[in-house]
Amino acid sequence: MPKRLVVIGGVAGGTSAAAKAKRTNREWEIRIFEKGPYVSYGGCGLPYLVGGEIAKKEDLIVRWPHQFEEQGIGVSVNSEVKEIDTSKGEVEVFHAEEGVTRRYGYDALVVATGARPFVPPIPGVDLEGVYVLRTPLDGEAIRMALESGKVKKAVVVGGGFIGVEMCEALLNQGVGVTMVELMEQILPPMDPDIANLVQERLEKAGVEVMTGCGVEAFEGRESLERVVAGGSAIDAQLAVLAIGVRPNVELAKAAGVSTGPTGAIAANERMETNVPGIFTAGDCAEALHLVTGEPVYIPLGTTANKMGRVAGTNAVGGDATFKGVLGTSIIKALDLGVAMTGLSEKDAQKRGIPYQVARIKGRDRAHYYPGSHPITVKLLYHSESRRLLGGQIVSHWTAAKRIDAIATAVYAEMTVDDFARQDFAYSPPFSPVWDPMLTAANRAVK
Ligand code: FAD
Repeated sequence: MPKRLVVIGGVAGGTSAAAKAKRTNREWEIRIFEKGPYVSYGGCGLPYLVGGEIAKKEDLIVRWPHQFEEQGIGVSVNSEVKEIDTSKGEVEVFHAEEGVTRRYGYDALVVATGARPFVPPIPGVDLEGVYVLRTPLDGEAIRMALESGKVKKAVVVGGGFIGVEMCEALLNQGVGVTMVELMEQILPPMDPDIANLVQERLEKAGVEVMTGCGVEAFEGRESLERVVAGGSAIDAQLAVLAIGVRPNVELAKAAGVSTGPTGAIAANERMETNVPGIFTAGDCAEALHLVTGEPVYIPLGTTANKMGRVAGTNAVGGDATFKGVLGTSIIKALDLGVAMTGLSEKDAQKRGIPYQVARIKGRDRAHYYPGSHPITVKLLYHSESRRLLGGQIVSHWTAAKRIDAIATAVYAEMTVDDFARQDFAYSPPFSPVWDPMLTAANRAVK
């Protein structure tokens, strides 16, 4: 009998694990169980489904179940794993469409159960018109509400990456937007000097940004009419909760799988959990931070894909490692691109790491070339070793992917002086002769 790999969860982490496992060892029988109706979709595209750039939710699907089947990977949708029985090596699965429960044996298991949006117990949070955004169905529901013509004003709760992307999406749909953020700044992982540039841009586009206050209640008779925040009532027919996610760890924990200090599943660099034969990947798992060496929970699609490949390889007898993360991330905020990697000033301060900052404002192309835009680059480096610790960029959205060069340098443990010596490409339509990243590094060298 062939050996059997069961993968729980069919989005980024789970499908990456299954596909890589099949490529690594074709002898194994592989089956994905997914609670929802879709597998393998681009969750990162959801704000653009809401905003109308993407026509319909099906366009976000990367691969349909039949495409996995053609590759020799079994897929069961609407099938929730209810229990992992490690003593028998079995999972118990409820197939919602048939209304039946079945048990399936496994020789190895990948837990890729992801995360769910955090929904705080605020009065009125269950009212019609209050949404979360996690799945294609969530995106479609928001889009349909917007297209009904009944929504004139919306509140985005949370000023993180998804909150900012939602502001753009709602503006694109012609809706007035208020953003409410509990912290004193939007984009909490970034430093305030960088986040403020984004806030100014949102405000210029008409978004009312309220920081330092939380939502106290959602009010309305049958559906949402008002959001109470910071002591005032904001008229709104739609609200989106974008205040973070919680890892789905309950199923794994019940089977004896350990979580780490972040509350997400702990794994070694082979993505093995403490339970033999059980691997993990994606938003349900924590990772090591490559600068601090601490476990962190920074759930991102890029990370889920990489962890999934490693978990899938090792689950079927291969050998691969996942070293950790820098939290490298990028978003589009109207015409701006906002990106970060590694530590922020806030992170360094919290850990007592001595650091210095080199921050410059330049242009993203030669000044004489049409269409050049301002760009702000901020580098953080260790005061004594001069190792690069992190970077942040705000620029026109076409220019912020420069962050990848900084991420590579942080990964390679380069000093800011080494970084200043990098041989970056130049031509007037792409950058000034001194790329703004080098100008920032040179500021530190001086
Ligand atoms: P999930 O996507 O959460 O998938 C886990 C799956 O497991 C779910 O479908 C769930 O139904 C299923 N499941 C859970 N429990 C069970 C069970 N017991 N039985 C069966 N199935 C189960 N990341 C980026 O890097 N860049 C971006 O630009 C970006 N933008 C984003 C925008 C939005 C609006 C959102 C919501 C996320 C964004 N992300 C982005 C994050 C990225 O989408 C996630 O990191 C990624 O989806 C994680 O994949 P996953 O497979 O680990 O988890």
